[in-house]
Amino acid sequence: MSAPRILLLGKDGQVGWELQRSLAVLGDVVALGRATANLPGMDTALCGDLSDLDGLRRTVATLAPAAIVNAAAYTAVDRAETEVALAQRINAEAPAVLAQAAAACGAWLVHYSTDYVFDGSGDRPWREDDPANPLNTYGQTKLAGEDAIRASGCRHLILRTQWVYGVRGGNFARTMLRLARERDRLAVVDDQFGAPTGADLIADVTAHALRQVLATGHDGGTYHLAAAGTTTWHGYATQLIDAARRRWPHLPWRVQAIDPIPSSAYPTPARRPHNARLDTTRLQRTFGLHLPAWQKGVQRWVEALAAP
Ligand code: NDP
Repeated sequence: MSAPRILLLGKDGQVGWELQRSLAVLGDVVALGRATANLPGMDTALCGDLSDLDGLRRTVATLAPAAIVNAAAYTAVDRAETEVALAQRINAEAPAVLAQAAAACGAWLVHYSTDYVFDGSGDRPWREDDPANPLNTYGQTKLAGEDAIRASGCRHLILRTQWVYGVRGGNFARTMLRLARERDRLAVVDDQFGAPTGADLIADVTAHALRQVLATGHDGGTYHLAAAGTTTWHGYATQLIDAARRRWPHLPWRVQAIDPIPSSAYPTPARRPHNARLDTTRLQRTFGLHLPAWQKGVQRWVEALAAP
């Protein structure tokens, strides 16, 4: 039996990097970043640049994969407020093209979306069917991408996640550990609620879910995927810095206090939802998975760091 071909886009991002590992056991993974790639024995150059819509169409048609996993995205939330057209191209138009191409060749499309599709009202964890109402351009473009996939008729898994950290790329966790060595006092937002979620966890869950849908003819759909529990950016920073101090007690940590502040004291170009809690019941029940507490992943991330 030949291994199914899986096209992975965005291979060098936080989640894409981990997917290169987790998808490897499911089939023959063709992993693309932005750069054009030439595969041995293939005449057509493969395009992984999501701004090149014709290139994406051609690439999917050439590979005719069993599944496309799209981990590429425009993720600069504040910059998206001024780079609207580019964010729209990458987060909405490219997924629409991928969905049409997937429908045409019968491939599954796995795509990631965000807690920022919600407006953050209330304090109940958001369920998949709750009305979306994004507060910022990034959230609007991600929602447009979701809608295009659902409208295309392709078989799909849309996994909404949040507060992602990984071993590659910049993220909040790295910034906090740097600032803890540079500053005596930190002020961190304490009125936005969510769960820090490891790229490794997202990639592992993706592989489990994809295996199941490929094997069973499952319907797919939209699912919330986040680590268990809830914290704020302040709670997250505190746990991270404590763990790093315990791991490297001899480093010259400068920070003496981490002050909780409201979002209003830290204005950003893009508004963020206060309540970003995601209810993951549907994902856990459908795929028989257990999502670990966010603290476990953050602790492991600190232990795996070569240096802070
Ligand atoms: P990253 O920003 O780490 O990775 C995104 C990847 O997309 C990068 O490798 C980036 O390349 C690539 N990319 C950007 N533009 C293009 C393009 N035109 N063509 C090809 N590749 C491109 O994001 P994450 O891994 O954290 O995010 C994965 C998914 O999860 C995304 O869909 C994101 O929207 C979603 N998500 C992420 C959250 C987070 O906190 N990070 C929160 C909620 C959802 P380059 O580095 O060269 O720009």
